[in-house]
Amino acid sequence: MSVKMLYEAKDELVSLLQQLIRFNTTNPPGNETPAAEFLKEVLENEGFKCELLESSPSRGNVITRIKGTNRKPSLLLLSHLDVVAANPDEWSVDPFAGTVKDGFIWGRGALDMKSMTAVEVMIMKLLKRNGVKPKGDIIFAATADEEMGGGAGVEWLVKNHPEKIKADYVINEGGGFAIPVKNRNIYTVQTAEKAIVWIKIRAKGTPGHGSIPGAADNAVLRMAETVRLLGNHRPKIKLVPTVKRNLEELSKGAGFQQRLFGKLLANPLIADKILDMMAKKERALAESIRAMLRTTIAPTIIHGGVKENVIPSRCEAVFDCRILPGQSKETLLAEIKRVLEKVGLEKLEFEILQENTPTESPFDTPLYRTIEKTLREFDPNCRVTPFMMTGGTDSRFLREIGCVCYGFAPMKPDLPLNEFLRMAHGIDERISIENLVFSLSVLYRLVEKFMT
Ligand SMILES: [Zn+2]
Repeated sequence: MSVKMLYEAKDELVSLLQQLIRFNTTNPPGNETPAAEFLKEVLENEGFKCELLESSPSRGNVITRIKGTNRKPSLLLLSHLDVVAANPDEWSVDPFAGTVKDGFIWGRGALDMKSMTAVEVMIMKLLKRNGVKPKGDIIFAATADEEMGGGAGVEWLVKNHPEKIKADYVINEGGGFAIPVKNRNIYTVQTAEKAIVWIKIRAKGTPGHGSIPGAADNAVLRMAETVRLLGNHRPKIKLVPTVKRNLEELSKGAGFQQRLFGKLLANPLIADKILDMMAKKERALAESIRAMLRTTIAPTIIHGGVKENVIPSRCEAVFDCRILPGQSKETLLAEIKRVLEKVGLEKLEFEILQENTPTESPFDTPLYRTIEKTLREFDPNCRVTPFMMTGGTDSRFLREIGCVCYGFAPMKPDLPLNEFLRMAHGIDERISIENLVFSLSVLYRLVEKFMT
């Protein structure tokens, strides 16, 4: 695509993102239908036929496609329309105004992820304008409810209309940002996600009077021991393919950190020692890597007792556990019970509150290699790494039905990485116009290269 066309696309792209931000799709309740209707109109003006599918009133998902010449592969460009809440008092601009200021577009969703929705709409429009004839179908879907688990969005679509969104490959959120390492950008491609297993544990005892503690069996003490044991427990380290390759990429080159990553790979058994050392200087980095190496168990809620002088017979706590691809809630629960044996399993009850499935896509694929090649056209010195999120996205539902999903919203590091990562779901979320155009340029080129 010529520079002139990109320049023309820029204003259209910025305006699209501004308009999307102005639809308040805070979830709950979501109310994505007006934004979905807007996109339907934008795409229909370009000659597309769109479907607006509501999982329930006001929870709209919009889908369209460019038919391929019937050869594989098919590609889904996916994004979600809902956003998390924003408190206007904390922001320096109105979070739902779509303000353009200092070269940035500000607003809730500017990064997560209305910018990518705007980019993907623009890709569809440009493909049509340029008369591109793809090999397989190119599908566009902007969906509801990602921020509350996807039940009214992608999960619902996969259950009720799989034929409308299933594709060989999916490009979605979760990666694409670059990590600057020694004058070189390492771009991330999200290929794996951990999964949540939220467990409630109930400790039981015998009630008694607070003035004679020895005559009672205090459930609070039993829970205190449970929390201490699980809070300090470090499950075995396991390097899933994505994390192994990620660490290999991060260990390339000379430097203190690179050497540490190299040592960790050579002997994962001493990973904690190495990460403890790294944490003294770079705590956030060291701890996020530690969380990629194993199941984590974090106590997050605790309740017990009702009155000052009554020793409680019940105390309950919730543990936010995150398991790796290849692990299951059954093995986790068995491990937790092993750890808690000395507390007395007969006095503990376990309940799974919520769970989902950890997923991983292979990165030895034609699309992954095309991502590497395309990025080098724009940033010749760059490298690319697969990347695992410790949280989740809608990609998990599609990986479960066999789609290869990559989180890839390409972005240059024009803000410090920590600040950038905090902004999604944070205060003063914004994207630079330069990065928005970069994202469109790379993704358009990628789609054109891969699909024709
Ligand atoms: Zn998101």
